[in-house]
Amino acid sequence: MAEEPKETKPGFQNPVAGFGVTFKAMFKKRLTEQYPEQQKTTAPRFHGRHQLNRHPDGLEKCVGCELCAWACPADAIYVEGADNTEEERYSPGERYGRVYQINYARCILCGLCIEACPTRALTMTNEFELADSSRANLIYTKEQLLAGLQEGMVDTPHSIFPGTDEQDYYRGLVTEAAPGTERQVAVSKGELHPSASPSGTSAGEGAEA
Ligand code: SF4
Ligand code: SF4
Repeated sequence: MAEEPKETKPGFQNPVAGFGVTFKAMFKKRLTEQYPEQQKTTAPRFHGRHQLNRHPDGLEKCVGCELCAWACPADAIYVEGADNTEEERYSPGERYGRVYQINYARCILCGLCIEACPTRALTMTNEFELADSSRANLIYTKEQLLAGLQEGMVDTPHSIFPGTDEQDYYRGLVTEAAPGTERQVAVSKGELHPSASPSGTSAGEGAEA
């Protein structure tokens, strides 16, 4: 004959005991975050939006090698490299990243791409507000990913610091743009030399967005 289950508490206590977890939770510290009104500071090494870094004179660190794209498990990066010329230079060496895109509809923010980058051109910021309702807006272009200009920098393209080579940039010998450094005309982006413009259009006009 089967044994009758033992009743551990008197019958009238059972409904109250059923709310035990609820009552305990009522007095615990709340975990609700009032986002986006109150933003929590991320951990310093949080993996957020990527950034393409510059050398201290403003030249770009990316050499267009595509190693980041090959390392990406989500196939989220697209890179096209191109040759620098003396008239239109974006990085100190031979090549630069002409096209650079990261598709945040694919990216899982794993950081393998930044580990693969040989020049520390690619790093990750703490910015995490990347959601968007449009797939097209989730593809970030080089212009969006490129770091802003800091003091002592001149925007690309511009010439290499006189008397230095690419290695000197990585040795930390270039700390700012050489005096008198001027931005060159980005002919590859459709900009016109002022002298070539029939209406006298300035060099900056006509550039790609
Ligand atoms: S963080 Fe990971 S998924 Fe995102 S682009 Fe880099 S390698 Fe690809
Ligand atoms: S970001 Fe780094 S790994 Fe990617 S193409 Fe540029 S230099 Fe190469």
